[in-house]
Amino acid sequence: MIFHDVVIVGGGLTGLMAAVEAPPGTDVAVISKIYPTRSHSGAAQGGFNAALGDDDSVEDHLFDTVKGGDYLGDQDAIEVLCSEGPEVIRQLERMGVPWSRTPDGRPAQRSLGGAGFPRACYAADISGHVVLHTLYERALAAGVRIYPEWHLVELLVEDGALAGLLVYDLATGRLEVVRCRVALLATGGYGRIFRKTTNGHANTGDGTAIAYRAGAVLADMEFVQFHPTTLCGTNILISEAARGEGGYLFNAVGERFMARYAPQKMELAPRDVVSRSIFQEIKEGRGLGNGYVHLDLTHLGVDKITRRLPQVNDLARIYAAVDPTQAPIPIEPAQHYSMGGIRVNLSCETNIPGLLAAGETANVSVHGANRLGGNSLLETVVFGRRAGRHMLKAADHSSPPRSSLELALARWQAIFSAGKPQEPGDDSASAIRDAMSRTMTDKVGVFRTGEELREAVEEIAALRRRYGALRVPAGEHPFNYQLIEHLELGCLLELSEVTAGAAYRRTESRGAHYRMDHPLRDDANWLHHTLVRRGGAGPVYEAGPVSITRFQPETRGY
Ligand SMILES: Cc1cc2nc3c(=O)[nH]c(=O)nc-3n(C[C@H](O)[C@H](O)[C@H](O)COP(=O)(O)OP(=O)(O)OC[C@H]3O[C@@H](n4cnc5c(N)ncnc54)[C@H](O)[C@@H]3O)c2cc1C
Repeated sequence: MIFHDVVIVGGGLTGLMAAVEAPPGTDVAVISKIYPTRSHSGAAQGGFNAALGDDDSVEDHLFDTVKGGDYLGDQDAIEVLCSEGPEVIRQLERMGVPWSRTPDGRPAQRSLGGAGFPRACYAADISGHVVLHTLYERALAAGVRIYPEWHLVELLVEDGALAGLLVYDLATGRLEVVRCRVALLATGGYGRIFRKTTNGHANTGDGTAIAYRAGAVLADMEFVQFHPTTLCGTNILISEAARGEGGYLFNAVGERFMARYAPQKMELAPRDVVSRSIFQEIKEGRGLGNGYVHLDLTHLGVDKITRRLPQVNDLARIYAAVDPTQAPIPIEPAQHYSMGGIRVNLSCETNIPGLLAAGETANVSVHGANRLGGNSLLETVVFGRRAGRHMLKAADHSSPPRSSLELALARWQAIFSAGKPQEPGDDSASAIRDAMSRTMTDKVGVFRTGEELREAVEEIAALRRRYGALRVPAGEHPFNYQLIEHLELGCLLELSEVTAGAAYRRTESRGAHYRMDHPLRDDANWLHHTLVRRGGAGPVYEAGPVSITRFQPETRGY
């Protein structure tokens, strides 16, 4: 058995920020299923929002975020996000982050969707990468113990409180029990429930699903962000920075069609609005090919594209064979961000004593029904820092795992078949996963209907039954990726079920959740969070209050 005061699961920006910010002298460990610097945070291009500009203000950032989230965000949490933002950006600078700069030496800021001011601090278009590497160096310098390629399997909960973690060490193939005074889940999003997504292969929502199984409450799972501009076919992200730097969207007849949907903000309307507009154009026959539109950067000139958008320039050339300085890029919307997650309070505490969560895994509800570009990276560092500073105060004096460990080990053994080799024609994890991600993309996408959502719920339930009968060939050996795939699929199915279920229940349209059969926002009946717990017979849903402190809901136009 391994012991650390503080165990953080996840080596992305949230986990590393928390590790660096734990009180000096604390014994901190970071467990990460992939090498920390390969976490999805490293793929983020656009930037970190913070109201640093002379004309900008925390109040404006707060308002843009509340409105962007269609009034579902908790305004007390958004206030924390926006007011701590400028200080965290300066702190990262002191740690050594090389922000791109203005001619007079201040951190440069660019416009992203839904923002009233250029507010996103960036490092060219590799913003996540540079901050991740800076924090990783800081974590090593602070003596944080890193367990790379250790995979969280289960949380052990004794008498309702966290008692330990069950973790699979890929390199040795061994199962380990890890004990701690307090644990933080920072395991990122679950975009891989969808077939078309910008998310990395590791974004399977393990922490969210594992916490849900252990009794944690999840919130707002129906709110899924679809990013407007991903490369057609591969769904590799073309950052919003491309539109922030002045890129245009064109349909097949050469119109800047956003004039029809968001005449003021145009291409820089929030993502839910732009994604719906693109699909509307395609539906009405103004798409290109078999369903895409054009993102045109050519008028920005070679210098701006190569200096400000080097990664976009490379991605378009390598993965779409398009030189963006000369020709428009074919793009389509795809899943991008999970607004839902483990419900936490402002100190990142879940309803399980001794267990915290932060970052994309969590739902402290700073994004409400739709996240603004640049606010997620900010959330990782603001709430990662809060979690790190608060963790020891949340430490619980739980008993060692006993019955929870016995049960977990029995479930572990049940995963393996007794030496029976796989037969051709046997059901497989990849077949189930393929069917699941198709159902989610086809029936729980940008435009939703009650009928399709009900079908999705039934299809996912049938896939869960198939999954229950699957076994992994016996033998705990190193780098058993068949086992990892099996574990991840269990998490994906669990989260698909509640995403489709919560979307079916919510009979209104708000932010990223658009019901064609209920196209209007309905504050009288639905201005509340969807909370879900795992009951014996499946998910149990209830309503939770929204914190409204400053801004009463208004019509949301751009
Ligand atoms: C392509 C792309 C571009 C983006 N660009 C921007 C942007 O410009 N601005 C913005 O604000 N947001 C952006 N986002 C969103 C933002 O990057 C993410 O929300 C954020 O980085 C998530 O950070 P995180 O620390 O919560 O999780 P991640 O960075 O995803 O890290 C998750 C960690 O959890 C670990 N983990 C997961 N499961 C397990 C397990 N079972 N056992 C052990 N470890 C586990 C992984 O190893 C990993 O280290 C972008 C997202 C994508 C996909």
